[in-house]
Amino acid sequence: MSKRRFKSIWLSGMVAICLVNLPNAAAQSGTLELSELPPTPSRIAELLRQTDVRFCYGPQEKPSSMTMPNGRRLGALTVYQMNFDFRTQSSVQRRGNRQQLVTTIRLGRRGLTCDHIVWFRELPDRETFWTNRLVLHELDHVRISTDPGHERLFKKLLSENSQTQQSANEQVEDAFRKVTSMVDIRYQELDRLTAHGMLDLPKGTTLDAFLDRSP
Ligand SMILES: [Zn+2]
Repeated sequence: MSKRRFKSIWLSGMVAICLVNLPNAAAQSGTLELSELPPTPSRIAELLRQTDVRFCYGPQEKPSSMTMPNGRRLGALTVYQMNFDFRTQSSVQRRGNRQQLVTTIRLGRRGLTCDHIVWFRELPDRETFWTNRLVLHELDHVRISTDPGHERLFKKLLSENSQTQQSANEQVEDAFRKVTSMVDIRYQELDRLTAHGMLDLPKGTTLDAFLDRSP
C-alpha cells in the first residue's frame, strides 16, 4: 500500500516538472545519439569505450529509479547500474586432522560491469555538448563509477572463503553493497565539492582523488 502511495507522489512530481517546462521547447524528451554530436574528444571517447552510457533528456526519459535528492531540481543526473554474475564451488578441505567444507566464490567472465544513464532536464546544445559544464560534470560521475578499482575491491572481498552456500551468497551481497556504497559516497563528495557541477574542483584536487589508483 505504501508503495502505491509513493508511486502517486512521484507521478505528481513529474507533472510539476512538465508544467514548469511547458512554455519552452525543452519539455520534449529524447535520446541523444553520439552520431548527432560533434566528434568525441579522445579522453571522453576512451571513457565511453569502457562503459555503456545512454544520454537522454526531458521529463519522459527521466529514469524511474531516480529520486530527486531533497526535492531539488537538478539540471542533470547520472544513474549507474552495476552488473555481475558469480559461481560458487564447494569442496572438502583437510585442516590438520579435521575436514572442513570450504565454498569459494568466482566472479563471472565479464567481471563487474557498469552501465550509465545520463539524464538532462533540458536538451543541451549539441554544438557545444563536449565542453558543456553540466555534461562534463556528469561524465566525471561516469568516470568515478567506471573506475576499475571497484572491481578489484569486489574481487578482493569475494576471495575470502566461506563455510556454506548461504554464507557465500551473503558474502556476495555484502561485498556488492560495500562497492556500491563506495561509489555513492564518491558521487556525493563530487557533488559536495562542485555544488553539483556549478563549481570547479577546489585548487589542487583532481578527479584522481576519487579513484582507486592501487595496482
Ligand atoms: Zn553531480
